[in-house]
Amino acid sequence: MKENGAQQWHEMDLPKFEQTMEVNTQQGLSADEVQHRQAQYGPNELIDRGTKSPWKILLEQLSGVMVIILIVSAVISALLGEYKDAVVILIIVILNSILGFTQEYRAEQAMAALKKMAVPHVRVRRSGHVQEISARDLVPGDVILLEAGSSIPADSRVIESVNLRVQEAVLTGESEAVEKHTDPLKGENLALGDRRNMLYMGTVATYGRGTAVVTSTGMHTELGRIAEMIQNVGQEQTPLQRRLEQLGRGLAIAALAIVFVVFILGLLRGEPLRLMFQTAISMAVAAVPEGLPAVVTIALALGAQRMLSRHALIRKLPAVETLGSVTVICSDKTGTLTENRMTVTVLDVAGNQMDFVEQVKSFTPHMDTKASPAPLVQENSAVALLLTGGTLCNDAILEEDTQAGDLSAIGDPTEGALVIAAARVGLRKPDLEAVMPRAAEVPFDSDRKRMTTLHRFQISQLPEALQPLWNARALAAQSEAVLTVTKGAVDGLLEVSSRVWVDGRIEQLNDHWKERVQAANNAMAQKGMRVLGVAVHMDAQVPTDVSAEGVEKDLIFIGMTGMIDPARPEVKDAVAVAKGAGIRPIMITGDHPLTALSIAKELGIATQHRVVTGQELAVMSDEELRAQVDDISVYARVSPEHKLKIVQALQFKGHIVAMTGDGVNDAPALKRADIGVAMGITGTDVSKEASDMILLDDNFATIVAAVEEGRRIYDNIRKFIRYTMTSNAGEIWVMLVAPFLGMPMPLTPLQILWINLVTDGLPGLALTVEPTERNTMKRKPHHPQENIFGRGMAREILWVGLLMGLVSLAMGYIFFKQEVAAWQTMVFTTLTLAQMGHVLAIRTERDSLFQVGLLSNKPLLGAVLLTFVLQMMVIYLPFFQDIFQTIALTPSQLIISLVSSTVVFFSLEIMKAIQRRKED
Ligand code: ATP
Repeated sequence: MKENGAQQWHEMDLPKFEQTMEVNTQQGLSADEVQHRQAQYGPNELIDRGTKSPWKILLEQLSGVMVIILIVSAVISALLGEYKDAVVILIIVILNSILGFTQEYRAEQAMAALKKMAVPHVRVRRSGHVQEISARDLVPGDVILLEAGSSIPADSRVIESVNLRVQEAVLTGESEAVEKHTDPLKGENLALGDRRNMLYMGTVATYGRGTAVVTSTGMHTELGRIAEMIQNVGQEQTPLQRRLEQLGRGLAIAALAIVFVVFILGLLRGEPLRLMFQTAISMAVAAVPEGLPAVVTIALALGAQRMLSRHALIRKLPAVETLGSVTVICSDKTGTLTENRMTVTVLDVAGNQMDFVEQVKSFTPHMDTKASPAPLVQENSAVALLLTGGTLCNDAILEEDTQAGDLSAIGDPTEGALVIAAARVGLRKPDLEAVMPRAAEVPFDSDRKRMTTLHRFQISQLPEALQPLWNARALAAQSEAVLTVTKGAVDGLLEVSSRVWVDGRIEQLNDHWKERVQAANNAMAQKGMRVLGVAVHMDAQVPTDVSAEGVEKDLIFIGMTGMIDPARPEVKDAVAVAKGAGIRPIMITGDHPLTALSIAKELGIATQHRVVTGQELAVMSDEELRAQVDDISVYARVSPEHKLKIVQALQFKGHIVAMTGDGVNDAPALKRADIGVAMGITGTDVSKEASDMILLDDNFATIVAAVEEGRRIYDNIRKFIRYTMTSNAGEIWVMLVAPFLGMPMPLTPLQILWINLVTDGLPGLALTVEPTERNTMKRKPHHPQENIFGRGMAREILWVGLLMGLVSLAMGYIFFKQEVAAWQTMVFTTLTLAQMGHVLAIRTERDSLFQVGLLSNKPLLGAVLLTFVLQMMVIYLPFFQDIFQTIALTPSQLIISLVSSTVVFFSLEIMKAIQRRKED
């Protein structure tokens, strides 16, 4: 094959093109050839400039302002001849950086893994079989199959187009989708937008379907050539991070002011300048919360990883945060609330309804052979037409397991159910298609809620079961005719039908018939069934205008199939959990109002009988909808654009909306929603790209699980902030108050750095893996504008910090007054251990530590024990005593420090107990 991307592909005719690409488009590439080309061209991906290399992370760690201040102070210490201090400061810098680096690296890895997962899948034909592969594995020459909603995975040449339309705004700026065809084009320098037989990576198919052959991949594509990279998983700052950064700046100024006061007070007391200088630096490093935004990123990224294990793939980091404050979840019905395992159970033709399961019980179809159809089909022309039409106007593929005698289908489950039902009575899709090949089609779209196919057939070859159709129209003079089949929602189908098939005759579709059809439709829908109607039309030839308007008119209504699609068993519980958590689930479906209501009632979503239909929505003004939107839980027969209207009305009412969607037209609503949720299995690439989160299992319960995770992560970030800020406050109080009590500096600069390293470091991080609290899904969502210090946290930081500082200092003061030399070591130890008590107490906001158990956060327990052991080493090992200027405590001094340090823990536990009393 010639060099990747160097050809004028659009100028070639198809045979020349195939020859140049060295591919047989019927078969696709062979496995060997794929391997060969993969080695030659590499993976089909754009070079990602968004991920940070480990070096960059390390550099960022070392270039933080506080780290630089520390390094400078180490250098100054060294110049002043205090080598020990210099080395210790450097070690502390290194330990801090290692901690920061590993966390951030893990977070980066987690995000990179998520990005990889977000790569779309694509259907390719290789070695004669259609298979689904990651777009990353495509090579030039691959034959790809595209449909409405697919994103174009690589630059390619169109070799088949059925009304294929592609939106190329990314490359051409043109927002209107353009129709693609297969004819060669003239002009070497034709603009990209005019190359109507080419497809370009990053653009999206919005309508129709088509087949194309990949011409260039990865950085050789047009998109690769222009520098603009599309990053799927965004790294934008989250609202919380932005707020924290602002807050951090404010706090930094406050902390520096306090440090300045301590500095001056120290000097006034006659402390040496050098000591005060070092103290000031240590305090500044300890008190300025510069690491907060980074911790948030880490917590969110690791949270996103945890969500993945619950089948929710996060595409945009802020979503993790927003999820916790969702107040309504708008969900599709089919596949999200239900299993999307459709089975045809009822047929209804000309007012005659039959239990399909009962009817076919005694009939076993022959597989792989042209079996004669079941008596039901032979005796009833309407049933024959209904099932034949439903199978022909259908993109699902019949799969027969002859050994097990099993029938299954690949493709859309609704269509699969029809193909299987027909095969059950001996009407095999491949046999029908052999006699009546598809000549043209108007694809399904969720606005029309129907699709149409046109089939050519030799009149003489009509299978016996279809003979009645032949009688339908006098085509005696012709040998060939065209059958148009439309299938879709019954209400709409009746509008484009003018006649009805009754016992082998055609009658006018008068009000009498319409009412009967509608009554039967409603009765089935009321039982929660999905009902699809079939209507046909005969022509002598394929009409010139194959459009919805051109062919979907004047049809003969044949009948209806009713299928059941059971509700997902886990959804009922998930709905209850959501409601308990102050989140209202809403169903928005394209299905029939009665079907929707039936399922919504079964799942506990519908609280009343009200269903609002797309038609009603269309005539409602925005004001009218806003006035009622809080009372509507079921929307049916909606079109995708109605979803946007609903999201906007809900948001106007102050709701934080999660909205699911799978189709191309759902993209605007997904983008507008606070959390756009796409379907991993049935969703189109377009919907996935517009989403914040993808449900890998298409399951509603997963959204609720993700909300729970979101709340947990938000809570844990709050706990982390509460913990570090309280610790900082404690240290500041100790240093600030001591001079007023006439005491010298209670903590040495290195002790301050030590407390900061061991306490903020490991125990703080372990808080971010704290399990979900028991009442997480029993309380109302927090408002996204809520201050992270809300719900009394700021107050608590102040008083607990004060308590921590004063307890340590008061105890120290008593021993200072008694002129016990170890008083400073006692303050140091009490303060460190008080922080350990604090971290254990704030693991839960409401429950006591004894209720949740010490072992329920093992990393935290480990961090606390490790800190304790390290503290003991610092007090008792001569090597550390020398560095940290500590004195070995006597057993009684140690016990006094220990007991004093537990004051904070018990105070908080008592506060929680009082709070629980009040709430119960
Ligand atoms: P949800 O939005 O809850 O997933 P849905 O799957 O029913 O609901 P759509 O896929 O838009 O929504 O389908 C809407 C209607 O279109 C269905 O009720 C059905 O009547 C009709 N329909 C669905 N699939 C097909 C199809 N393959 N061919 C023809 N008509 C269809």
